[in-house]
Amino acid sequence: MSATPTAIPTTKADWQALAEELTQGQALETRAYIDDAFVAAASGDTFESRNPATNEILAQVASCDAADAELAVTSARAAFAEGEWSRLAPGKRKKVLLRLADLMEANKHELALLDTLDMGKPVSSSLGDMAGAIACIRYQAECIDKLYGEVAPTGEDALALVLREPIGVVAAIVPWNFPLMMTAWKIAPALAAGNSVILKPSEKSPLSALRLAQLAKEAGIPRGVFQVLPGFGHTVGKALALSMEVDCLAFTGSTAVGKQLMQYAGQSNLKRVYLECGGKSPNIVFADCKELDKVASHAAAAIFHNQGEVCIAGARLLVENAIREEFVEKVLAAAETMQPGDPLDPESFMGAMVDETQHRRVLDYIRQGVEEGARLRTGGQAIDGPGYFIPPTVFDGVTPQMTIGREEIFGPVLAVFGFDSEEEAVAMANDTPYGLAAGLWSQDIDRIMRVTGRLQSGQVFVNNWAGGDQTMPFGGVKQSGNGRDKSHHSLEEYSSLKSVWMALET
Ligand code: NAD
Repeated sequence: MSATPTAIPTTKADWQALAEELTQGQALETRAYIDDAFVAAASGDTFESRNPATNEILAQVASCDAADAELAVTSARAAFAEGEWSRLAPGKRKKVLLRLADLMEANKHELALLDTLDMGKPVSSSLGDMAGAIACIRYQAECIDKLYGEVAPTGEDALALVLREPIGVVAAIVPWNFPLMMTAWKIAPALAAGNSVILKPSEKSPLSALRLAQLAKEAGIPRGVFQVLPGFGHTVGKALALSMEVDCLAFTGSTAVGKQLMQYAGQSNLKRVYLECGGKSPNIVFADCKELDKVASHAAAAIFHNQGEVCIAGARLLVENAIREEFVEKVLAAAETMQPGDPLDPESFMGAMVDETQHRRVLDYIRQGVEEGARLRTGGQAIDGPGYFIPPTVFDGVTPQMTIGREEIFGPVLAVFGFDSEEEAVAMANDTPYGLAAGLWSQDIDRIMRVTGRLQSGQVFVNNWAGGDQTMPFGGVKQSGNGRDKSHHSLEEYSSLKSVWMALET
């Protein structure tokens, strides 16, 4: 059983007390959730979950592999065929999902804390993720009984119906940077549409997914309709991706793994593959924009939020040379206020990097930036201690040829480029294999519309960064992926169209 918070935590001491309560004794669920039961992995294997802010072991978690994947797939398929969920009236599925959202709301502090302990982000940020996750479940639940099929415009010798049906078994494979929110973006539309869903959380952040499984059971999601398999990508993730009985892969993670999943689909049953992958997003600041202090503060938050471990991080700051020096000074001042702190302190803006590997990877990129001749303006050194902290780091004078100007770093490292013309800015912005997000700051509506149209990007933020709510689809173009999370468009991914032509006597 999980601990029940006794009071709403507001201070660092409150969060520390709740963390202690959760991590002592038997409070954490660490087993897989398969066929309505919490069980050890078939092999009996476990893996360590560590708190990257302290490097302490939090738990030993079931390490699922192909055998567990097969059990879950069998259960999911049986549930789908039996129809208790897949053929349930959409309005009834809605009620169960709304109950799940209510349970998440009631337990949001605990869920937020699990993500913070598991992957190092500040609790205030995790609480924001919980609001996003809960809103997503509610939005998709509310959508599902409001979507109609179609009657095609035929002659009177036929009645032609276009029906929307669930696909079958969906495997959702998610990353660690927004563990529960990325999960909600996948499972909410997939479950609302009537599918059986198997969730594979990242091996770096499995704990909130297992708590979610407890809540899903309590909400009344039937046996086999929602299951959770913690474990590694190359074992259980790969088994799900190669399964002949999984009909759809919904993935968020790196472009490299996204490419592998497409191959697995081709090697197995041509399952649908929806990918939300990496990015190296450009944030373009034109000299005509207003309130430079405010824009600089947004530009800093665009990369330093969540320690830079954000798919849509504004990692490439393109500044018109006429204001570049002045603007970079303002970004440096803003960065100074965004130093990492204890993730359990609600005042901390940044927390710890997810683990030693990511910490080392980011420091390697910083070293390459220096070696390749970019100008390090702030940060760049790891912060001493048992945890994996890196301060906001800003490089100026970056060129598109430099490694730090091209590759996704996934850490608090900002690369500043200069440009002289709109054409140059657009060309530089698009000079990347990615196309997830782009920002532009200007007061000129003609320029805004021109540049927006030319940016190769799934999202464009005009005079803001990362704006959006549940009504807006989220996804990329180019090697940032082909899927769309959120909004009613995401329901389309988890359903298929059936055309029914009925001949009529005239
Ligand atoms: P990752 O690709 O290493 O792992 C993502 C998930 O895939 C994990 O659950 C992992 O276990 C699993 N996996 C790994 N290898 C696998 C395999 N061979 N078969 C099946 N599953 C496998 O990514 P990550 O490090 O967890 O996350 C960071 C990446 O995610 C970044 O590139 C980031 O840009 C991207 N991301 C994208 C979005 C988006 O919406 N586009 C959102 C968040 C993160």
